[in-house]
Amino acid sequence: MSYVFPPPTPTSLPVAGRAQRFPVRRIFCVGRNYEEHAKEMGFTGREPPFFFLKPADALVAVEPSATGTMDYPGLTANLHHEVELVVAIGKEGKSIAAADAMEYIYGYAVGLDMTRRDLQNEMKKQGRPWCIGKAFEQSAPVGVITPAAQATDIATAAIELKVNGATRQYSQISKLIWNIAETIEHLSAAWELRPGDLIMTGTPEGVGAVVRGDMLEASVTGLEPLRLKLA
Ligand code: MN
Repeated sequence: MSYVFPPPTPTSLPVAGRAQRFPVRRIFCVGRNYEEHAKEMGFTGREPPFFFLKPADALVAVEPSATGTMDYPGLTANLHHEVELVVAIGKEGKSIAAADAMEYIYGYAVGLDMTRRDLQNEMKKQGRPWCIGKAFEQSAPVGVITPAAQATDIATAAIELKVNGATRQYSQISKLIWNIAETIEHLSAAWELRPGDLIMTGTPEGVGAVVRGDMLEASVTGLEPLRLKLA
């Protein structure tokens, strides 16, 4: 096989305690999956989960103990942080029942669904796709994957984001409207999941703007924290 130009190397994430990396295939994201965040965005109630995607090369892989860098993107004056639990899929499957869903999980990481909120809001208003607000380069900083066997208390973990040392977002994974297994059930009804897929499971309340020079520290109890500097 030869190509007209060299194909890109897959993006990948480090795995805690392993030399091998996790190659990333797709990045699925869940919209409005915490009640208090749904409210702050002007919605209420338990609507069926809905999904959008970021390209795999939107990933910013942050190495163990390192501080990642994200360049402030163009076209926006309102770049928002959304701290999220990231589920890494390790096994192929479609139409997975919630009761079986945990078998498909390779591990967990902390991620940021960075959002050009002004552009997203404009697209919403016009009934157009969110891509320009959500799926731009470097819009998906993610830290080290902790294998599922080492992250047994994830369903009861706390999730937090600090900006320059001050807490901006704080909640519990137990407050997910659609929990991890239910999210996989819904997602795999619509897409056949593949090893390497990531699911950003949604953000709790407290989203807000960041500016150049800000230091973001994202954490989920039991997982490697994610540190990111906005350049
Ligand atoms: Mn999000």
